[in-house]
Amino acid sequence: MEEYVTNSEKLKTSGQMAAGIAHEIRNPLTVISGFLQVMKEQNSFRPQYFSIIHNEVERMNGILNEFLLLAKPLKVQLERKSVHHLLEDVILLYESQSKMKKVDLIYENSKEEIMLECDPNQLKQAFINLLQNALEAVQGTENGQVKISCVKKNELEINIIDNGVGIPKEIIEKVGTPFFTTKSNGTGLGLMITQKIIGQHGGKLEIIDSNDNGTHIVIKLPYINQLLTKMN
Ligand code: ADP
Ligand code: MG
Repeated sequence: MEEYVTNSEKLKTSGQMAAGIAHEIRNPLTVISGFLQVMKEQNSFRPQYFSIIHNEVERMNGILNEFLLLAKPLKVQLERKSVHHLLEDVILLYESQSKMKKVDLIYENSKEEIMLECDPNQLKQAFINLLQNALEAVQGTENGQVKISCVKKNELEINIIDNGVGIPKEIIEKVGTPFFTTKSNGTGLGLMITQKIIGQHGGKLEIIDSNDNGTHIVIKLPYINQLLTKMN
């Protein structure tokens, strides 16, 4: 099986990031100012226009929030946490959404206690981004399924596997670079943030080639027993 290592070195310089932000914010701003202009000319308030403007404002807010997460140097507040608790917390967040969308959200819990030295909120954010992508990828497909599992090997491996649209080979190198998105409402920052968080925990994120059959993402993280054995 071929492996693609997404490269956290893809983090661009702050100048390029700033240019990217400006570009991303300009689109919704143009839309907003266009609709405001039309309402002014017609001297009337249109609910449809209002909701477009509202959506665009929300989009800008989303872009800025994600950007702030990236721009801030992550202060990792380490705690000892069970990986199952972390994953269960995140899965709970998506339970009702996945039921509504008729997506099978499966957590294969090995019942084995695996402890991580981690910043729980940040790791949760990383899993949320991945789960969100997986759910978006299966949206609209028949028998959509997102499966999460963890295996204890040299490192802890957390697999997130979906049977959605998949990532075409032609774009695999671009995925995870700032603002790269194939979605009309995407920000293209989620995977970058995720890689940054995983990197700060001494881990890495890999996209496994699943032969045009959905997407398989593996997060590899050092776990506590492993660190102890290494020291002995
Ligand atoms: P966004 O979700 O805002 O587009 P991300 O950084 O989270 O930004 O993802 C970047 C791109 O990577 C997505 O637009 C999509 O093309 C691709 N991608 C990420 N995860 C998946 C997935 N599970 N299935 C298919 N494509 C994915
Ligand atoms: Mg995303």
